[in-house]
Amino acid sequence: MDQPSSTDSKSLDTILPTAFSIGLTGGIGSGKTTVANLFAERGVAVIDVDVIAHQLTAVDGAGIAAIHAAFGSDFIAANGAMDRKKMRELVFSNADAKHRLETILHPLIRSETALAIQQARGLYLILAVPLLVESGNWKQRVTRVLVIDCDEQTQIERVMQRNTMTAAQVQAIMAAQATREQRLQAANDVIINNSSVEALSPQIDKLHAFYLSLVPQ
Ligand code: ATP
Repeated sequence: MDQPSSTDSKSLDTILPTAFSIGLTGGIGSGKTTVANLFAERGVAVIDVDVIAHQLTAVDGAGIAAIHAAFGSDFIAANGAMDRKKMRELVFSNADAKHRLETILHPLIRSETALAIQQARGLYLILAVPLLVESGNWKQRVTRVLVIDCDEQTQIERVMQRNTMTAAQVQAIMAAQATREQRLQAANDVIINNSSVEALSPQIDKLHAFYLSLVPQ
């Protein structure tokens, strides 16, 4: 990971309102990455906040030193990355630890996202934010909210297949996320991803044309 940027949280709130930005969200396994890739193929700049968060806690990530200081070496794997499994287990059951981790990562995520936006080139910007509905701030920062909707059984089956998880494990993650109804209520636009990947393209083409018509000249 590159050196942390010098931009701060204020920068993100300064930069984003000046861009036409779509906040793309959806539950676990709903198809956010699949949809984001299809927009990218059409020339849209896509920034995935989850990828940024991952990089911060990967080997040489900008968050590693602070995580080491706050949680100790038990939470750093042999290769120097954050031990994701251990950290996931800790924060799942310990609200204070979750808060401490977020206090470290959120400002870094904001500054790295601000930097990525400044460097992004595309027809307009899509910010993929898995927890956009849960974390009120992102919703206010983007121009429109695009929700990838998927029925819950399909979501569970896709994640089980991808991650070799049990249905109960997937359901536990879903229970900690916003409900399908809460997400749909926050949506300006919706893509339904219940059937094939091919069924996504016409929906994306239609929305892409609509978004292009809204981009300030
Ligand atoms: P996460 O929340 O875990 O990051 P996501 O919302 O980004 O997931 P994807 O990774 O795009 O979701 O999709 C989840 C899984 O389902 C992937 O293995 C993907 O290939 C598959 N998938 C997505 N959409 C479809 C579809 N329409 N038909 C079949 N498989 C699909």
